[in-house]
Amino acid sequence: MTISTSEAREEAIRAEARLLGFDVCRFARADAPWSAAERLAEFVAAGRHGEMAWMETTAERRAHPTGMWPGARSAIVLGMNYGPDHDPLAVLSEPTRGAISVYAQGDDYHELIKKRLKALARWVQDRFGGELKVFVDTAPLMEKPLAERAGVGWQGRHTNLVSREHGSWLFLGSVLTELELRPDPVGEETCGSCRACLDVCPTNAFPAPFQLDARRCISYLTIELKAPIPHEFRPLLGNRIYGCDDCLAVCPWNKFASTAREQALHAREALRAPSLADLSRLDDPAFRALFAKSPVKRIGRDRFVRNVLYAIGNSGEPALAAEALRLLDDPAPVVRGAAVWALGRLLPPAEFEALRERRTRAEVDPEVAEEWRLAQPALAL
Ligand code: SF4
Repeated sequence: MTISTSEAREEAIRAEARLLGFDVCRFARADAPWSAAERLAEFVAAGRHGEMAWMETTAERRAHPTGMWPGARSAIVLGMNYGPDHDPLAVLSEPTRGAISVYAQGDDYHELIKKRLKALARWVQDRFGGELKVFVDTAPLMEKPLAERAGVGWQGRHTNLVSREHGSWLFLGSVLTELELRPDPVGEETCGSCRACLDVCPTNAFPAPFQLDARRCISYLTIELKAPIPHEFRPLLGNRIYGCDDCLAVCPWNKFASTAREQALHAREALRAPSLADLSRLDDPAFRALFAKSPVKRIGRDRFVRNVLYAIGNSGEPALAAEALRLLDDPAPVVRGAAVWALGRLLPPAEFEALRERRTRAEVDPEVAEEWRLAQPALAL
């Protein structure tokens, strides 16, 4: 095939991207100035990235796409719709079940998208030449502002990307290339006066519209934070055990979104509303088996069971205290500490005090001993 005009080249790339399963393929200048660098610098300077030290150490490279690769001229920005086929917030009213973020209920999108991005990159290079590099979330490229520049959508008040066609449910990936591709019109912010995402946030993680304090965000707390989750946030987690969809799910633009085309991105039945009791019994091999090919696997069994125990503490279900009692003997301090907190919420005060009396002296880990000291039996329920 002979490509005679630049426009035909962009259309051919779009068609190939569609064939590969992408729902969106648009183009942006990679070398033009932008203001995203200042927003990132402010975010890092205010410490809002919490323990995500990579954000700080890569800030300079992340400041602009050409910081990642000076040769980049254009960006091919790809999106894959992962719209759920169910109401992702319905599980929040089932306190004995765990809520796992929609993106993590299916297969790991990083793996899925990376393969396809590489296939697209090979195809573009074979057809049109030029060096290129592939990025999907794990690389420190600022994909949301780049997607906005390519007109995939705009960064909404919740700071995530919003698309007119796919609402807030888009996985993003990018290919940077030396090719001079014709840029698409930039996305225009179309949130209007809506502030549903800000108002729904259980932890008040938005200091202002379009600004997120990751340290307060349940996605950060349950996924990125290795230490025990600060006490002030635990009651606010509800039954969210891996991530949080609230601000995404209430976005009115979702009404235009369809269910994910890609079967691998659909929720696995076992992860839609799993029983907290069952999850609390996972040992390492069982955890790995249940979350094979799932992004959840990355946080490891101990951190995951920690989250499950906070949800058990929030369940208001006394029968679940038996699971927390059993986990007081878990080898992982982060699990024992969360079990203490859950029992403080579920046991009658006298029973908890007797337990505290028996157990505190035997506890060797200072952080878990501190959990015993701080626990306030049944006060919060
Ligand atoms: Fe708040 Fe949840 Fe959105 Fe994080 S994901 S900002 S906790 S609503």
